[in-house]
Amino acid sequence: MTFADLGLSDDLLKAISDQGYDEPTPIQAKAIPHVLGGADVMGIAQTGTGKTAGFTLPMIDRLSNGRAKARMPRSLIICPTRELATQVAENFKLYGKYKKLTMALLIGGVAFGDQDRLIDRGVDVLIATPGRLLDHVERGKLVLLGVQILVVDEADRMLDMGFIPDVERICALVPAAGRQMLFFSATMAPEIKRLADKFLRDPVKVEVARQATTADTVAQHLVQVPPRQKRKALRHLLDQEEVNTSIIFCNRKRDVADMFSALSRNG
Ligand code: AMP
Repeated sequence: MTFADLGLSDDLLKAISDQGYDEPTPIQAKAIPHVLGGADVMGIAQTGTGKTAGFTLPMIDRLSNGRAKARMPRSLIICPTRELATQVAENFKLYGKYKKLTMALLIGGVAFGDQDRLIDRGVDVLIATPGRLLDHVERGKLVLLGVQILVVDEADRMLDMGFIPDVERICALVPAAGRQMLFFSATMAPEIKRLADKFLRDPVKVEVARQATTADTVAQHLVQVPPRQKRKALRHLLDQEEVNTSIIFCNRKRDVADMFSALSRNG
């Protein structure tokens, strides 16, 4: 699978190759064709899977025709934190470098005169944190009636940070007719599922498995021994490591019973 197979424009393929990406990541391969096709997407993926490019790349192509009106962004991406919003904006700059899309960043805690001016004129892409966005809407500086693509990124972190009511308000402010909605979350907590069920229409579910990783605090070792030496090796390890508490797994009930009596016998 190559990026060219996904149906992206030549301008984007050039920007992708400038980045040195050889092939799409699994979430990109799964999500990009659906986003390009205009479907709502529920993406279950964590940071580090390449999910940001999974929605920014096809969005750039979908937005490449058309013009924004004053104070009415054509697409909106809401992120839980300033850092994440800034990263998404950087992605847009990198991938959209051969396109003429306008973008603004609206994040809490920072006064941005130039960003306000951009929004006033009208932007193709607005990337925002929920509180700051609602603040602008309430003050009449921003109207969400022209949003054609709405992205909720890292919905599970929105939930952790107590932003779900704000997210829900924002979703309700964007007209449902003709709207494409993309929802990304690392997990499908019940509250997130409720929100997705309420706002997404026939979403395509794309999911990449959580990588099986070991906690940093755990050291793993593999000890190879002949079958008849296993108990001896285990006793040796338990003595040597001065283990206080441990869990031993066996694959049969009988092995558990034998292991239990052997270890008991040996004190
Ligand atoms: P994300 O999960 O969106 O935070 O992306 C994680 C990192 O993967 C970012 O630094 C991207 O620049 C990088 N990345 C995204 N897509 C690809 C790709 N297809 N090949 C190699 N790296 C990628």
